[in-house]
Amino acid sequence: MSDERTTGDGSGGTELSEFDWGASEEGEIDLEGVVLEETAENGGLFDDLLSGEPIFENKEVLRPSYTPHELPHRNDQINTMATILVAALRGETPSNILIYGKTGTGKTASAKFVSKELEETSTRYEVPCEVEYINCEVTDTKYRVLAQLANTFIEQNEAEVESRIDELEGLLEDVEAGDRDLRATPFDGTHAVESRLDQLEAERDDMEEVPMTGWPTDRVYSSFFDAVDHQERVVVIMLDEIDKLVEKSGDDTLYNLSRMNSELENSRVSIMGISNDLKFTDFLDPRVKSSLGEEEIVFPPYDANQLRDILRHRAEVAFKADVLSDDVIPLCAAFAAQEHGDARRALDLLRTAGELAERSGADLVREAHVRQAQEKIELDRVVEVVRTLPTQSKLVLFSIITLEDNGVRNINTGEVYNVYKQLCGQIDADVLTQRRVTDLISELDMLGIVNAVVVSKGRYGRTKEISLSVPEEETKAVLVSDSRLADLEDGGTFVQARFGDG
Ligand code: ADP
Ligand code: MG
Repeated sequence: MSDERTTGDGSGGTELSEFDWGASEEGEIDLEGVVLEETAENGGLFDDLLSGEPIFENKEVLRPSYTPHELPHRNDQINTMATILVAALRGETPSNILIYGKTGTGKTASAKFVSKELEETSTRYEVPCEVEYINCEVTDTKYRVLAQLANTFIEQNEAEVESRIDELEGLLEDVEAGDRDLRATPFDGTHAVESRLDQLEAERDDMEEVPMTGWPTDRVYSSFFDAVDHQERVVVIMLDEIDKLVEKSGDDTLYNLSRMNSELENSRVSIMGISNDLKFTDFLDPRVKSSLGEEEIVFPPYDANQLRDILRHRAEVAFKADVLSDDVIPLCAAFAAQEHGDARRALDLLRTAGELAERSGADLVREAHVRQAQEKIELDRVVEVVRTLPTQSKLVLFSIITLEDNGVRNINTGEVYNVYKQLCGQIDADVLTQRRVTDLISELDMLGIVNAVVVSKGRYGRTKEISLSVPEEETKAVLVSDSRLADLEDGGTFVQARFGDG
């Protein structure tokens, strides 16, 4: 099959070489030429897609990894950060800052924007000030945070010492060749230069990178400490998603970092923590809490109008002219505003709507594409949540689906439990108690996968009525794609058993 595609009957190959892969005289690939010359029979996989009117000018601008140059509606927060951090440019230690806000409120984008400006200004004024950005969701243990910081500075110091060595070696050569003398230098003879060189070389050989695992944490910490203090500078350490670090490995990294200044001799360290969790300081040691939260900046959710502005700015660069119908941006903004004012969601919606329009060959992105995009994103979320559920929760969910599949309405916990037990039997899984299964149902409810309402049965007590709140087919497909649940696909028989001979 694949053979046929590549070589075909021979004509495809020769035809392509005839117009030289569409290369124009300048040697540039002229794709238009290729597409026009293709006939219906030999049209390739990509031809239809290429011939459609493109919607996007630069899609990357809508991705989360892109850092915008302009951040509408974040002036106050950005100015506050700058007012605090400017101390670093004066060689003073800026107060520590704690930034709070829900996801998608522009915390990371603003922090990166400010850090770029800060570093650029410090280079221009030649003041030794540096910003180290760490995403604690990725770098999520004390060891890794300290190792990453240590290695950044060790590398810098090495480069620094290396260039000093080069300089002095050059000086020595020049002096020996009689091209320069040492009068304008702090050295009173070549022996002094040589001994300084020895010293620097020893220093360089002492610098050892921290391995990604294996050292005692104390050693990693002191490595970092020495590396930062190697020269005079102010270092701003940005710890993004700091709540993830604390959740996973406690607050002693923060404790260490916030105490450093009293022992550092040459350098100063300031911490900027960024948290999605508004209550995260509740878990901190009070000393860490007061030191870290010297200054606090809150990023409130965006409202629909603000999201509209943000989207307009990005859309100008991301899309070709006049491809968005008027209601597209307001609708994306409105959907995302419902989602706690999340700019990431708004941008995702706009990008997905554009992709759906492009895929359907439309030349305009319309309201319908946004609605489709909303559904798709919601479904993707559900799929991801379901896919990563623990096996027991998957079994409980599968039980509920099986019951719904068989037309059972107002499903109660007892019914779920009966089906669940049979499913466990089928795949040889441990059977949890009904109490635990009830808990798992509550968890599914909290995740928005099922809806469980407590109804009173008068003197028979209370029970839960459970229904599925996600699309059944797709959810079932995700469940059976788990190899442990694959054999459950045909659920008819045991439900039959449950409901008698019907
Ligand atoms: P957070 O860190 O608060 O979760 P981000 O800074 O990652 O949020 O922002 C999410 C997305 O929204 C990013 O793509 C970011 O570029 C964009 N964004 C957020 N706020 C703004 C804004 N004021 N102007 C332009 N883009 C923004
Ligand atoms: Mg962020």
